[in-house]
Amino acid sequence: MSDIDASKLVIEPTTKPSEPRPNEDLVFGKYFSDHMLEIEWTEAEGWGVPKISGYHPLLLDPSTVVFHYAFELFEGMKAYRDKDNNIRTFRSDKNMARMNNSAARASMPTFDGEELMKCIDKLVLLDKKFVPFGAGYSLYLRPTMIGTTPTLGVHEPDRALLYVICSPVGPYYKTGFKPVSLEATDYAVRAWPGGVGGYKLGANYVSCIQPQTVAASKGHQQNLWLFGEEGYVTEVGAMNAMFVFKDENNKKELVTAPLDGTILPGVTRDSVLQLARARLPADEWTISERKFTIHEVAEKASKGQLVEAFGCGTAAIVSPINNIGFQDKQIPVPCGANGVIGDLTQTVADWIRKIQYGEEEFADWSRV
Ligand code: PMP
Repeated sequence: MSDIDASKLVIEPTTKPSEPRPNEDLVFGKYFSDHMLEIEWTEAEGWGVPKISGYHPLLLDPSTVVFHYAFELFEGMKAYRDKDNNIRTFRSDKNMARMNNSAARASMPTFDGEELMKCIDKLVLLDKKFVPFGAGYSLYLRPTMIGTTPTLGVHEPDRALLYVICSPVGPYYKTGFKPVSLEATDYAVRAWPGGVGGYKLGANYVSCIQPQTVAASKGHQQNLWLFGEEGYVTEVGAMNAMFVFKDENNKKELVTAPLDGTILPGVTRDSVLQLARARLPADEWTISERKFTIHEVAEKASKGQLVEAFGCGTAAIVSPINNIGFQDKQIPVPCGANGVIGDLTQTVADWIRKIQYGEEEFADWSRV
């Protein structure tokens, strides 16, 4: 059975090259680069020859399992242009590992992540002109896998398609950071023990949109997803959630929910935790992956012990939080001296941005 083999990659350049849009036109996920990568898999033969060709629609039978039973998973990562015009991806090995975990859980084929990355490198270099210049700009990469067996039968697909498309994107906050207000959502649940919240399956996202609309109608930008009667804090929108508390002695705690299967193991989450453990003074900080509840957040806030809070993910790096609506109360969240972004939130945003754009190296996080 053959695995993905990047040395067999076939490149058919597009006959209709286009010009990248100016940076000011970029809207997340709206425009795409000239090419895409495709690799087909069959149960009989394994992974086929990787192919890069012009960006094009897919032709699929209406019975194809992806349309009926949500055999779909994806990744989200970015390619950044550094000051020497090299293109860098950030911790892409983590995305490849997560994609393989998602594939295994969704009864779809796994693959050699390094071989896929070699193909993605070729795609990004071919479309290098679509990697925008400028701080905060990048080429968003969307590796996707779908089950392509044409059948209404509910079983493991015997065919799949892995493809990668690329979308030039700008900074999440074009005019500087904007703190968001959250609705602490307890009437709808994103994920549960034994479920699939720890995997990046498309099916996890569709059910979160309607509660987001409800939150928006109450003036909140995002949901703070709670779980269980205890009101455990899990994630914020499609980001991991980080809170900073302080105790009576002013010792601070950076706290985020543990990876118990209900949380997506975010690459940014892991990066924040590793950098915080490496760089924050241990006598002033505790870095915790532990369960905590909305009641603990409310209590800390009422005692002046809630220091700041932020969401973190590939799209925005960090997203500062300034308010949480829970039931009929509002919990104000401090946002630093400027009221926009807390000190640690700004610090981790800078740490990660510098590594992504190659201004600094950390471990082996950059793939040039
Ligand atoms: N949680 C969810 C539900 C997400 O969709 C994402 C974005 N992939 C994250 C967290 C953050 O993950 P990452 O840091 O890998 O982008």
